[in-house]
Amino acid sequence: MRPLVLFDVDNTLVDRAEGFRRWALEFCSRWRLDADQVPWLEEADGDGLTPKEVFFDRVRKRFGIQEPVASLCDEYRTRKPALIPPCPGVLDGLERLRARGWRIGLVTNGEADVQLATIIAGGLAERVDGSAISGAEGVRKPARRLFELAAERCGAALTPGAWMVGDSLAADVRGGREAGLRTIWIDRGRPLSPDAPRPDFVVSDGAAAIELLIGERERR
Ligand SMILES: [Mg+2]
Repeated sequence: MRPLVLFDVDNTLVDRAEGFRRWALEFCSRWRLDADQVPWLEEADGDGLTPKEVFFDRVRKRFGIQEPVASLCDEYRTRKPALIPPCPGVLDGLERLRARGWRIGLVTNGEADVQLATIIAGGLAERVDGSAISGAEGVRKPARRLFELAAERCGAALTPGAWMVGDSLAADVRGGREAGLRTIWIDRGRPLSPDAPRPDFVVSDGAAAIELLIGERERR
């Protein structure tokens, strides 16, 4: 049977943090703000967890910007996906997985249009078999249903030998475990606290996770 792996997208296969930094630099330049405001924008973004309406409400107040929140949000959603690069080694790695017979799915929380644009701009679309985006499905990780949908889109089911790879302990590791998957956590240099859900493996980035998957398979 062909093995199945599901990947988170942001900060797992694509460098969302770098994409946001690039967007923030452009934003500062457009509104004639000092580039040293970038760290404040990054902090307010909360690694993408702050709803964009809340984020831009704070931004308008801080910088005295008159443009309405809705149009700032629209500009952001249109521009940011194009600025997010794939993580180093990931595109090659996905091709190597596929050449070895893996089915590859994406399971991501976020708005449908933004995530779809991110998947296409990052070069992922043509390298995976299927995807499930929370904004399109009406269900978010860690709910099992989103993992199931991603597997179905790959022509597969959630079987005990399948894998979930991601950088969020709450969404990817807990969700993956509860869906019966083996999990790989991308730590991005963060410690694993004792009360966190336990991943099967911890690696530093997406390319290392792919190497690990290939190695695990070949050992069997
Ligand atoms: Mg992520």
